Amino acid sequence: LVPVGELPRILGHEFSGEVAGIGPGVSGYEEGDRVVADINIGCGRCVYCHRGQHLRCDGLRQIGVHVDGAFAEFVRVPVQALRRIPAAMSFEAAALTEPLACALHGEEQVGLQPGEVVVVLGCGPMGLLHCMLSRLRGAACVISCEPNEFRRDFSLRVGADCAVGAGADVIRDAVLDRTDGQGADVVIEAVGSAPTYRTAIALARPGGRVLFFGAAAPNDEIPLHPFDVYRRELTMVGSYAGSYGSWDQAIALLSAGRIPATDLVTSVRPLEELEASIEAIATRPDAMKIQIAVA
Ligand SMILES: [Zn+2]
Repeated sequence: LVPVGELPRILGHEFSGEVAGIGPGVSGYEEGDRVVADINIGCGRCVYCHRGQHLRCDGLRQIGVHVDGAFAEFVRVPVQALRRIPAAMSFEAAALTEPLACALHGEEQVGLQPGEVVVVLGCGPMGLLHCMLSRLRGAACVISCEPNEFRRDFSLRVGADCAVGAGADVIRDAVLDRTDGQGADVVIEAVGSAPTYRTAIALARPGGRVLFFGAAAPNDEIPLHPFDVYRRELTMVGSYAGSYGSWDQAIALLSAGRIPATDLVTSVRPLEELEASIEAIATRPDAMKIQIAVA
C-alpha cells in the first residue's frame, strides 16, 4: 500500500459540509443535509472488507490522499461513507471528526485503561488529541513530550499533566521520575520518526504497550533488541487511520463538547488562501490547524 497517492491530487481529508448534489440511484440523503464522510474506502471484495476491517484492505483508498479531496468547492464521496451530524454541531467542530476518529481508533488498538500512565510523544494536533482523549479515558497521568514550547504549553491546557522538552535522555528521566522508575503503561508515538519510535519502546514499563501512530517513512528502520521485547513482554501495535465506529464516537464526543478539539483551530481562511495557509502551518511555530472555509 503506497503511503500517498499519485500526483497531481486535490488534498483535504478533514472536512464537513452540506450535500450539494446526489448521484443516480442514491437514496436516504437530500440536498442541504449536514454531513461528514469517512475517508477510508475499501475495495469491498477482499477478505478484510468482508470482515469489516477495510483499513487492512490492500486496495484501500482515502479521500484527499488517494482520490481527490476537499480543498475544492465540491468533493465527491460514496454514500456509505456519509455520516449525518447533529443540527447544533458546527462545521468547524465536525471537520475535526477525521483526526479524532484516528486518535480513537489508535487508543482502542492499544487498549488504554483507566488509571494508566500514558506518554504522548509529539504535540502536533494529533498528539494533542491523544492528550485530550487519554485524559477523558481516565489516564492517571498524561506526560507529553515536545520540543516546540508553544505546543508543549498547549498540551498542558488540554489534558497533559506534565510536559517535557526534547531529548531522549531528558524524556526518559522525566518518565522514570513519575513512575517509580518503572516506565509508562502506554506510550503513544505521534511524531512518525525513527528516533522517537526507539524512544517510545524504551519508555514502556515491563508489560507496557506502544502505539505506532505517527506516520513513519516507509523505508525508516530502527534497531530492536528482540530479547528486550521478550523479557519485558512488550506489546507494539499499529494504527493506520480512524474508521468503523470511531467516526460515530468522534461525532458524539465533539458535538457534546467532551473534546475541546476546536481549540486546535488557529484560524479559518478562505480557499483562495490555501497555499499561504499550508505555508503558515509548515513555518509558524504557533500555528496548529488552519481550517479552510469554502463559501
Ligand atoms: Zn478490500
